[in-house]
Amino acid sequence: MHSIAESHFPLNSQTLLVHGGRDPGRFAGMVNTPVHRGSTILSNTMDEWESRKLPDNPMASYGRFGTPTTRSFETLICNLEGGHRSMAFPSGLSACTHALLAFLKQGDHVLVTDSVYGPTRSFVTKFLGRMGITATFFDPAASANIREFIQPNTRVVFLESPGSWTFEMQDIPAIAEQAHRAGAVVIMDNTWATPLFFRPLDYGVDVSIHAATKYIIGHSDALLGVATANAEAWPMLAAGGHDFGQTAGADDLYLALRGLRTMHVRMSQHWQSGVRLAESLLEQPLVERVLHPALPQDPGHALWRRDFKGASGLFGVVLRTGDRHVITEIVDRLQLFGIGLSWGGFESLVLPSEPEIARSVRPCPWNGRMLRIHTGLENVDDLISDMRQAMYRAAQI
Ligand SMILES: *Cc1c(COP(=O)(O)O)cnc(C)c1O
Repeated sequence: MHSIAESHFPLNSQTLLVHGGRDPGRFAGMVNTPVHRGSTILSNTMDEWESRKLPDNPMASYGRFGTPTTRSFETLICNLEGGHRSMAFPSGLSACTHALLAFLKQGDHVLVTDSVYGPTRSFVTKFLGRMGITATFFDPAASANIREFIQPNTRVVFLESPGSWTFEMQDIPAIAEQAHRAGAVVIMDNTWATPLFFRPLDYGVDVSIHAATKYIIGHSDALLGVATANAEAWPMLAAGGHDFGQTAGADDLYLALRGLRTMHVRMSQHWQSGVRLAESLLEQPLVERVLHPALPQDPGHALWRRDFKGASGLFGVVLRTGDRHVITEIVDRLQLFGIGLSWGGFESLVLPSEPEIARSVRPCPWNGRMLRIHTGLENVDDLISDMRQAMYRAAQI
């Protein structure tokens, strides 16, 4: 069997998920790259030792720079994203923060979408602020108008589309064009879509990030992050990551590789069930609107259709009431939806938003009335029935 690196025809990402990042010939015929645990990596000779230290040598000189398990994961993600190289991080948040730090220095300015993941926002305002780096948050609908916010010292534009609470889509190519004209690097948190449904680097993004904790691992049993850069951005990203001593654990990397093998079938199901559940919620008297870019009436639908190949199972619901008793009744009555943070696992989840979602441009119009739903892999009619009974009970209040 040949390695897919030598394929004679371009491979679909569904095939890459199965064949990528594996090399059974190197590991006694084992289908999966084993878990490699280690700090010291011995060399047989001085020559080997010297060659291990060469830059970009796939044979690392020390465990912190990665093992064959790390390289298998990074290679597969890089193939899926169509990037130059990928780098694993111990969590999704650390991939975001270290990508930012890799490109920013004191006195720089960063532009960030107002719909960004909360902990990334807090890192930008608190930590980067302390380092003398200023930030401007912009309306996710800004498109090419972000040029108005670009300053002479703007070095990074940070995107997330759709936002993981409010689900606004962004015009990635239009924003990337403006950013590049100003000499800024474009970083995108691509966790929602996975590399199967959106490939940021094809749309002008320089660094694409995933909280692998979510759909890539897919089973709610580990934390991991990964960032993929194009050839121009790679040296800065790699240096930034290495200098901070970031390293991901071998068992978590193994779980991520294992999750990736089935990600295509899981994502097809999350997408299909998510849309059906979202449509059924539109009919509920308690529901004012559903925030899901794959629904035709969603304001982000045109961008989603233009750029994305599918949708994940995560979406938002805006209720007609912010009455805490009603929201509590819905959440407590649900039998199949767990109450908890994160998403992307096999199981369904529900979470009421914070009473106030942090925003800089303008307050979120749905503050205190939002539920976030992760559609898991249960039978979708069961999920719909569960939502119906909980909403029915809550409507009696
Ligand atoms: C969960 C999440 C992260 C952070 O991932 P962790 O592995 O929990 O650190 C980053 N971005 C988005 C959009 C997320 O949902």
